[in-house]
Amino acid sequence: MTDLFENYTPPWMDEELALLRDAARTCFTTELAPRHECWEANGIVDRDAWSKTGAAGFLLAAVPAAYGGGGGDYRHETVIMEEQLRCGASGLGTQVHSQIVAPYFLRYGSEGQRQRWLPGMAAGSKVGAIAMTEPNTGSDLQSIRTTAIRDGDEFVINGSKTYISNGQHCDLVIVVAKTDPSLGAKGISLIVVEAGTVGFSKGRNLKKLGQAAADTSELFFADCRVPADNLLGEEGKGFVQLMQQLPQERLNIAQAAVVDMERAITLTLEFVKQRKAFGQRVLDLQTTKFKLAECKTEALIARTFVDQCLIKHLAGELDAATASMAKYWTTDKQNQNIDICLQLHGGAGYMEEYPISRMYRDARVQTIYGGTNESMKELISRTL
Ligand SMILES: Cc1cc2nc3c(=O)[nH]c(=O)nc-3n(C[C@H](O)[C@H](O)[C@H](O)COP(=O)(O)OP(=O)(O)OC[C@H]3O[C@@H](n4cnc5c(N)ncnc54)[C@H](O)[C@@H]3O)c2cc1C
Repeated sequence: MTDLFENYTPPWMDEELALLRDAARTCFTTELAPRHECWEANGIVDRDAWSKTGAAGFLLAAVPAAYGGGGGDYRHETVIMEEQLRCGASGLGTQVHSQIVAPYFLRYGSEGQRQRWLPGMAAGSKVGAIAMTEPNTGSDLQSIRTTAIRDGDEFVINGSKTYISNGQHCDLVIVVAKTDPSLGAKGISLIVVEAGTVGFSKGRNLKKLGQAAADTSELFFADCRVPADNLLGEEGKGFVQLMQQLPQERLNIAQAAVVDMERAITLTLEFVKQRKAFGQRVLDLQTTKFKLAECKTEALIARTFVDQCLIKHLAGELDAATASMAKYWTTDKQNQNIDICLQLHGGAGYMEEYPISRMYRDARVQTIYGGTNESMKELISRTL
């Protein structure tokens, strides 16, 4: 069962995962949640949050134990992510680190690359990031201008990236670059750059509307030389690799949307049960009950759909259009429902001390990153 739906157990859940969920809940509510407000004020989490989460075994849960990971699968990642979001600690960029970056190393990395990078990521001593977006292009990935030109046994990288999650803390960045600018999408490759490499620099920690504790940065590459061995997979296959990985990224965002919808309803129920207006609980007003009934219905529809996507994903059958449907619909609903929940808090909903106000700000980006919801509809419409 979930916290909100007593009669619904995700079909992929089992006893081992339930134990993992309880352990993650305890760890995140004691280790991350109490420090989050301070991290929000600082615009970044403390570095030890990464090593502590790694030491507790909550990074790279789906990576084999041989590379330092948890030896589980995407369900284990899901359970951990749900608990992190449920306690409100959205600032630690584990979604990007464990569920987006690590799978690239696992799937496309050579044995040597996996041995070199994954154990540190599992321990939290190395933080991962992926840099696709540039100042001039985001949705139109084929138009990136960053180049990585082969020179002997090195690539020389030039260009800049922006809005990169984990951009300040990152030790390893998968850089999407053109190794042959004349070939369009077929000239795109993925190259790993390690922090400290000459020519690689981190820009500002960008100030954002929400997700204040998550570091998001510009990254710069000026004649940055990396060994040719840092190429992930084959040269010129970067665009295909991105397309292969994007369904998981979109599923991941959809799952986060579902957890947030459930959390918003739970928080709002707590509030309207104790708040009185005109001699009765705010919950007892018919408009309140009906609004929350709608929100709860949509949250369950979202969860059911997303759970089906997860099952398809485990079987290797989640296609890009279905993942896009999940991402666009759940994140739209997340924003709409959190808005309703905030309204039901009245003035309290606008106050920092009530978590619904932060959820409202944090949710806004969900329809934008990981591919905008317009891009999702474009992709879905190709199947019509
Ligand atoms: C907090 C945050 C974290 C992020 N983290 C990362 C990260 O870790 N790594 C990374 O690489 N990127 C990251 N991004 C970037 C994010 O993925 C992009 O912002 C997003 O893909 C949109 O690109 P853009 O900002 O260039 O918008 P644009 O592509 O310029 O889009 C502007 C508008 O045009 C619309 N539009 C564009 N093309 C079409 C079309 N074909 N049809 C209809 N409408 C269209 C868009 O939907 C949007 O409304 C992050 C962004 C944010 C805000």
